[in-house]
Amino acid sequence: MDDHGYVMSGMSLLLILPTIILFMVFLDMNNAGVEENSQLLHSDKVLKTSKDFESNIPVAGKEVLKQDAENVVRTGIPLTNSRKTVKDDLQIKMDQLSSNYEKNTGLEVECNITSVDNSEDPFSVEINSTIYIGKDSVFHKENLSQDISLTDTQYPMPNPLPFIKCKNFGGVQVVNNNKIAFNSSLVEYLNNRGVENAVAYENATTSYIIKKCPYDPYIMHGNLGYNTLKTCIENGYFHESSDGSCFLCRMEGKGTCPHYGMETFILPAASPDITNNNSTNISLNLSFKRAPSSIDHVIFNDTPPGTGTYQGDILTLYNDGVNCFKIFLDDAHRMKYGIPIF
Ligand SMILES: [Zn+2]
Ligand SMILES: [Zn+2]
Repeated sequence: MDDHGYVMSGMSLLLILPTIILFMVFLDMNNAGVEENSQLLHSDKVLKTSKDFESNIPVAGKEVLKQDAENVVRTGIPLTNSRKTVKDDLQIKMDQLSSNYEKNTGLEVECNITSVDNSEDPFSVEINSTIYIGKDSVFHKENLSQDISLTDTQYPMPNPLPFIKCKNFGGVQVVNNNKIAFNSSLVEYLNNRGVENAVAYENATTSYIIKKCPYDPYIMHGNLGYNTLKTCIENGYFHESSDGSCFLCRMEGKGTCPHYGMETFILPAASPDITNNNSTNISLNLSFKRAPSSIDHVIFNDTPPGTGTYQGDILTLYNDGVNCFKIFLDDAHRMKYGIPIF
């Protein structure tokens, strides 16, 4: 009876064994499932982090461009290589951001700014980078090329060129937040180069913040008895220009450059009450009919031997007997802005 019992026990063990093996296999499968699931969750986290991280580059780019341009405005000292300065400053910012992301996500985060250069659009700057985000075998690696807008109102970009050009001639001053007042410095600067009729630019003004002109095509500036041109000038808008220097070269103090750039008007003379936010009240009491053309790249073209600044004919935009609004404009720019040539 006892022997029989042992036999039965052995038999039942044999019967149970496959069940145990099956159970173990099942457990293992289940384990693998958990692992796969965590892999999926992991890659989802990597992708989400990558997307989020990428969106920070244009923001950091604008902050750096603005800060570097403001430094030039403050010191009047041009950058020797603006592309490199912006690239290096942005790299520092992205390194800080990467380490914050690492702490918060537990992932490895790396961002390498490969270049900062002109975009096809002169109102943008192109930033190229590579990013790596991941952990172990799950990672996301990408080469990015992003266009950073220079006209985002949240990051107003100053026009650094007048601050550099006039630094040694008495400097310039920001008035009403969006105008640069030259006082006598522009006359001094032009006289120093032997430019004719420079005195027309005593108390001249120009735009401070870079804003893109909405009156496109530009020939419509001549519409409504020059009213469009007058409104454009009052708003201090900038225009696309193949002769005008680009934003990055403006930071290097270049009045012209080989890149597709921008131009804005320089108003020959502002009435003394310009500081009272009365920018329409421009008076001009000049005896001569010609003076340097009122376009910034014409006035600041000081590439030796100094013939870059050409003259333009006087143009009255507005005259109500009290307020008079005049600029000087050469034929090529008259054509560009839809103004008849005399
Ligand atoms: Zn305009
Ligand atoms: Zn340039």
